Amino acid sequence: MRLIFLGAPGAGKGTQARGLAGELSVPQVATGDMLREAVAAGTELGREAQRYMDSGALVPDAVVIGLIADRLRRPDAESGFILDGFPRTVEQAEGLDRLLTGMGQKLDRVVFFDVGEGELVRRLTGRRVCRQCGASYHVEWAPPRVASRCDLCGGELGQRDDDREATVRSRLQVYARQTAPLLDYYRARGLLVPIAGEGAIDRIRDGVRAATGLAG
Ligand code: AMP
Repeated sequence: MRLIFLGAPGAGKGTQARGLAGELSVPQVATGDMLREAVAAGTELGREAQRYMDSGALVPDAVVIGLIADRLRRPDAESGFILDGFPRTVEQAEGLDRLLTGMGQKLDRVVFFDVGEGELVRRLTGRRVCRQCGASYHVEWAPPRVASRCDLCGGELGQRDDDREATVRSRLQVYARQTAPLLDYYRARGLLVPIAGEGAIDRIRDGVRAATGLAG
């Protein structure tokens, strides 16, 4: 199964991609995670990417297309993948099409997570992430059992720099301007399956499963 999870920052793509990727035994390929790893490792790519990420702008298309090309050629992605946070521009979508054609592969579906803007802002600004294992919490709706400590590994929780309100607003503008046109791109190709991205996580998971043709 070759899937794209499409939606604004904070739409819940990552949470759902993690669960479904485990179930399908395919990798969750999240360009945001890959770029944050490069930043943490202090590589040249990381240093270049950080300038864009800090302001909520997109990292140049050629950089992320290169990352994805390397990632999708690894053996674990041979039988499928879930792309989470890529593509984010029409240029990236076209690059992906070329890449997959070259590998003799085809996308199965593009699941669009539909979430209103007010909800996105509340989710992102309240999000806290474990600095050690990456588990995600929310200050109001999913707080950890012990303040600022991860339930899973005891690591320290923190806020992503780009989850501060001013940056969240610009990330949402970038989404509307550069990423939302992908809805038409994939609708025109008959691949787009919209799902309601608000409500209980389990209900959303059922929607994702139905959208990807899996039993409820
Ligand atoms: P995310 O974790 O998906 O919200 O991504 C965090 C940041 O990484 C974004 O605000 C961008 O700066 C950068 N980024 C992640 N994925 C992409 C992409 N496909 N194209 C360009 N920039 C990206």
